[in-house]
Order: sequence, then structure tokens, then C-alpha cells
Amino acid sequence: MKQPKAKRLDILAIEEKWQKRWEDTAVYRFNRGEWTRPIYSIDTPPPYPSGEFHMGNVLNWTYFDIVARFKRMRGYNVFFPQGWDCHGLGIEVEVERAHKVRKRDVPPEKFRRWCEQTVEKYIAMMKGSIIRLGCSVDWATEYRTMDPEYWKLTQLSFILSYRKGFIYQGTHPVNWCPRCETAIADAEVNYEQREGALHYVRFPLEDDEEYLSIATTRPELLPACVAVAVHPVDNRYQKCVGQKIHVPIANRTVEIIPDEMVDPSFGSGVVMICTYGDKADVKMVLRNGLPVIMWLTENGKINDKGGKYAAMSTDEAKKAVLNDLEALDLLEKTEKLQQEIGVCDRCDTPVEILQRKQWFMRTRALTDEVNRNADRVDWYPEYMKKRLIDWASSLDWDWVISRQRVFGTPIPIWYCNRCGEVILAEESWIPVDPKLERPKIEKCAKCGSTQFIPEPDVLDTWMDSSITCAVHAGWPEHEDWRRLFPADLHPSGIDIIRTWAYYLMVRHLALFDEKPYKSCLINGMVLGTDGRKMSKSLKNYVTTPEVLEKYGADASRQWAAAGGATGSDIPFRWPDVEYGWRFLIKLWNASRFVNARLKDYTSGDNTDHAHQILDEWILSKTERLTQTVTEALDECQFNIAMEEIRNFTWHILCDGYIEAVKDRLYNPQLYGEEKKKAAQQTLYTVLYRVLQLLAPISPHITEEIYQAMYAEDKGFESIHLSSWPTVDKSRLIGEIEQQGDLIMAVISEIRREKAEKRLPLNTQISKLTIYSGGKGKAETIIKGKEDISGTCKVDEIEIVPRQGDGTEVKPYNDICFVAEY
Ligand SMILES: [Zn+2]
Ligand SMILES: [Zn+2]
Repeated sequence: MKQPKAKRLDILAIEEKWQKRWEDTAVYRFNRGEWTRPIYSIDTPPPYPSGEFHMGNVLNWTYFDIVARFKRMRGYNVFFPQGWDCHGLGIEVEVERAHKVRKRDVPPEKFRRWCEQTVEKYIAMMKGSIIRLGCSVDWATEYRTMDPEYWKLTQLSFILSYRKGFIYQGTHPVNWCPRCETAIADAEVNYEQREGALHYVRFPLEDDEEYLSIATTRPELLPACVAVAVHPVDNRYQKCVGQKIHVPIANRTVEIIPDEMVDPSFGSGVVMICTYGDKADVKMVLRNGLPVIMWLTENGKINDKGGKYAAMSTDEAKKAVLNDLEALDLLEKTEKLQQEIGVCDRCDTPVEILQRKQWFMRTRALTDEVNRNADRVDWYPEYMKKRLIDWASSLDWDWVISRQRVFGTPIPIWYCNRCGEVILAEESWIPVDPKLERPKIEKCAKCGSTQFIPEPDVLDTWMDSSITCAVHAGWPEHEDWRRLFPADLHPSGIDIIRTWAYYLMVRHLALFDEKPYKSCLINGMVLGTDGRKMSKSLKNYVTTPEVLEKYGADASRQWAAAGGATGSDIPFRWPDVEYGWRFLIKLWNASRFVNARLKDYTSGDNTDHAHQILDEWILSKTERLTQTVTEALDECQFNIAMEEIRNFTWHILCDGYIEAVKDRLYNPQLYGEEKKKAAQQTLYTVLYRVLQLLAPISPHITEEIYQAMYAEDKGFESIHLSSWPTVDKSRLIGEIEQQGDLIMAVISEIRREKAEKRLPLNTQISKLTIYSGGKGKAETIIKGKEDISGTCKVDEIEIVPRQGDGTEVKPYNDICFVAEY
């Protein structure tokens, strides 16, 4: 056995060394084409390069790296890819801020280049963190969705879905961010509570001296008012239905219509329908066949339909309209109101609803399929399934997939400039940017024109990242891609079920009529040090490098594993990481001790030496631990696995067994060589088992100890390539465990008495009398007599089967003892 190991544990140096070595020796490379072992494929989410791999990412990546390592040791050929989801608004907003420009101020090529540079910088930072965390990623698979090779796949998926009828172009109301100047999907709208005001505006009836009072939070929408509505059975207003009413400011009349969507208890019970104030307007316009007045420009200014308010922002127009209403004596009153408003996910600007020509994916047609397939997926934890189903069922609109931006995959479409015919790229033309290339046809098949107009829009970034299950598998080039599809595991955060898990599901169902993943592993959110949502402004924010530099990856991964049940939110707590670090030191010191005591031990020695009861006891507990940890990891219950391993190592192995066999190891002349060998063999076996069970969670320290103590004997290149232990049921004996527990309890009671009397632990006891309280227990204690007297330094030991009496006794489990010093 190699000797010696460093005295102090320098975990940071150990981690760096193994991270480099693993990559150099390619231990985590997936072997495509090797089908003798079963495949386990992980659909690693390609993160959006924000530049920061935050503690939520640490939690997420730790979870599925544990699974990857566990499955690898279980004999699977594990496929663990890593890519980067580059495109999208986030980077564009960032570039606009950094260069103090708007997207249209610079040529698109230049803007795109800036975006790419920003992405590269951020990828480097995040990749560093994933490596630093010790993830067993196969870096040979690394990809970027902004590369043309990836566009090609996104464009191919567009073409195939288009041909299957899942993609269409339409003029529909869409969520619109006036700052980003683009359509956005429902999933990109966040809802916030804000305090607003409810204004009661008088609308004069045309044939009457009277007026109706209408409550609205958005009086600036008056120019876009297309009808006034009341509930059909609201007695107050039934006589008005069908009448015309004047829209103040707009100088038009509209009809008063009945609509069941009107809430008679809100405001005055009369509402104006505008195009568009919110989604209810959209529904009512559609139901009643009302006209649409587009009143806003794409950058959120009032257009010429707004008359004198044209060119104002919505806020400016609101003030101006209210002033004018006041002057006309048409503003009845104003009340405060708590309202929920939708804001852009990327820039927090309130979202408007605009009508614009867009590309859509027919997602709602797939809702039943999504829900059916959600049932066929194993969810960890199970209740997360409902989140996907609820989201899919709640969607009002199809997914708008076009974006009026620069940094995205180009939509592979042209239009005939004469007849408007849509020309879809052929598979052999891609990757293609229609803005730079003509379609590869001579003329329009319909009208013969030779002039074409490119589609200027790009695709939503989720169109790139929602096909990863197929792309990772090798679709379409690798003819064997179906062997890796559906992915065995899709891991994701609770906050992105509505995007990641959902979009993957609809896209793959549309393309392949098959669910994309067999199981879905969900992590909760990481809360701040004070238990509130982690946020830089609350000063409860902790960055990943801070944590990794202080305690290293192995301890941080223990925090992630043990922080709470899978799927629940877990707070970041420094003491939890420190506890993980202390555990590593304990394990390090224990293995140094074992290593030193095994100097004269011949490994590979399979004969059972004179096993004592405590040897049998810990061996049985080791098998039980193996069983519990294996079951927990099979069910993605990382916290249970972690706690079991730590409790066993700390209490059963270090504080219990090692202390109890020291005397046997040091003094073979008293007990015999065979009993020493039994302890050595037991230590050798148990420590190796602990290392193996811990390896998926804390991969570095386990590798370090394995390489120093076991690699030569066991022959695996890395502990992470060793085979997961199977439970040896013949060693699992409940009765032995109970007997051993009793002996260990006696030892710890005696040690506790010495501590209470402030005696050193090695104080000699001249006579120890144990009153066992029964014959069975006396027989058990006799079996452990040698280890008890060795550990507790007892000269003479007497075991009395009856109940103890007298006062100088310590009862445990109705066992009493009297120690004479
Ligand atoms: Zn925005
Ligand atoms: Zn044409």
C-alpha cells in the first residue's frame, strides 16, 4: 500500500488535480457505438450564458451529476453532454446596455458579433464553474446553439414541423415588449403586483341626457375603444344594450353589447373593450366580431390613431387624457387599486398586446398529448407532473415563435415579391440566413417572379433549446440516434417546468410523435442566507466562486445533496457547507489512520479471519447502508443518501468501530494475530464501501483516497469507473446488529462516566462489574468482552446476569455497571 498521504487535507489542491486528470484521461467520455452496456442518456439543459453559474445551478448540476456518477458505477454507458443556449433577448439587452445602443442603431452583422463576443466571455466563466464543481460532463460533446451547425438543426426542425402542419403564420394579438420591440411568449411574461388607480369615466349615451360611468385603469386606451359591454343579466343596464354611446376624447360612438365575461361587481359593472388592454379584451373582440384599432407603435408610442396624443408614451398619454377628461368634467372619481400586471421577463417593462403578423407553433392542438405523455414520465418528485399539466392546460394562445430581433436562428423562409407565396427552405439549403442568401430556385412556382423578400425575423431561443433530447441523441446524422432517445433523464429547475419541460415535450411530440424524456428530475430554488428569495439587493446573495473557493466542491455538493428533499426549496447556509467540509476532514483522518494500520495487511486476502462480534456488526451495518443508499439514489432522494453515509461514517465507523478495535490492532500479542487481521480486513472493506457510496456526491476526496489506498488492488482506473457494490444479504444479520449495538452502548456509557469524572479515557479500571439484567444480554456482552476491556482499559471484568443494585451504577437499556478505578 502506498504511503504516506498528506497530513493536512488540502481539498482545493486535490480537487483541481483530479479535475485536470479526469479530463486528461477522458474517464467520462461516452463511447458511442459501444452497445454492450446499457445506455443512460442525460438531457443536460444547455444553460443560457448569463455569465454567472449561480447557486441554483450548483444545486441543479449537483443533482444530475450524482445521477450520472451513480449510473456509471451501476454499469451504464453514461451519456452526459453539455451545450450552451446562446441566442435570445437577454444577451441583446446586455449588449444594448454595454454599448449604449439600440439594436437598429448598428448593422445587424456588427450587433450579432457583439452578442457572440459577450456569449463567449460568459461561456468561459460558466464552463469554469461546471468544471470546478467536478461535474462528470463529456466535454467532447460541447456545442453552441449560435453556431451554424446548430442553426441547421433548429431550421430542420422548423421545416419538418411546418410540413406536418404544426407551424403557421398569422395575424394575432401577441404579448409585446415595447422596450425590446419584439413579440414574446406567455412563458416570458411575469406577473407583478403594483399599485395603480381606477378611474371612473363618464360615457354619454347618444339618445339620452344620461351617461354611463366606466371604471378603467388605462384611460389612455380610449382612442382604441371598440365597444362598451355589460353583463347580459345585469338589470341596471339591460335597457341600454344595443344603444350607441359616445367615447370621450375619441369623438366616436360605439355600441353597448352584452357579454358574459363582464364582472358586474367590478367598478360600475360597465366596461370598455379596447384593442388591446388585456387578454380579456382579446377574447371579447373575438367572441363579438369587433373591429381592431391598432393604437400603439412597436416601441410603445401612441400612433396616429391616437389623434392629439400621437407620439406620446403610454404614461404621457395617460396623464394628458386624464387632464382632458377633467376639463370636460367627464372624470367622476379615482380610486386606488392593487393590480397584477404582466412584465417582460428580460427587462421588466410592462407588456402590451399588439396585433402583428407572426409565426406560431400550433401548441394547443398538442395539449392532450402533452398531458397524456406527462403521465408516462417518471417525475422526481412525483407531484411536479401536475405543474406541467396545469401549465399546458392553462395556455390561451399558441406559441409565438418569431422574434423581431437580431441574435437568433434565422427563419428559413422567403416570400415572392409579386404574389406573396411563402417559400420554405429545402433540407439541402440549410443552414441558411435568408437575409444573406436567395432561395435556390429560379422563379416563383406560382407566378414566375424571380424576386424574393427574405423573412426578417428570427426564432425564439426556445426553438433552439427545445430539441435537445433529439440533438443530444445524434439526430439526424447518427443512424443510431434512436438508441439514445428518449433521454433517460431530463433535469430542470422548478421555475422552468413551464418552459423547458413543456417546450421539449411539445416540440418532440410534433416532430417524432414521441415523448422526449423518460424521467424528469426537478430541483427547487436556492433561498438566501436568511431564508428569503436570494437577491443581490437583499444582501443575502452568495456567489458560487465564493463558496467553492472557501470550502471546495465536495463540501458544496454535500450541501446541495443534503439541503432538503428533492424538489423543495433549500436555503443556502454557510454552516451546512462547513459541516460538509468537517465531514471530509473526519473521513480524511479516518482513512489516514486505517492506511497506517493496514501497512502489514495483505489485501486480496479473502479468507474470513477470526471475526469478532463488532466486526460482524459493522459489516452488517455496511450492507444495510449500501441497501439504503442504493434505494435512495434510485429514487433521486439525495438527502437521504447523504445523511445515511455521513451518520454511518461519523458515528458507526469513526466514533464507534475504530475506537473499539484500536487495542486489537495495537496489541496482537494480547489478542492474537487472527483477531488483528479480522479488524484490518473489516476496516479495509468498510472504508472502501464508504468511499464508493460517497463517490457520486463527493467525487474528489473519494478519488484521492481510492488512488492512494485501493487503486493498485482493485485495478479500476478511477473509483468512478468501479462497479457499484451489491448488497451481500448473507452478511446482513439484524440480530448481530442488535448485539453489537448493545456492546457499543456499554463502551460508550463507560467512556461517558470517565468523562463525567474528568478522568482521561485511558484511565485503567481495576474492576468492572456489569449487571446485564438477563441471561441473553449477558451472553452478548461476553462475546464483546475483549473489545470492551481493550477499549475501556479494564483489568478485570465480571458479567452478572441479574439486575444491578446499589447507587454507583449507570443504567443503559436496564444494564448497570460499577467501575472501580
Ligand atoms: Zn423587454
Ligand atoms: Zn409569386
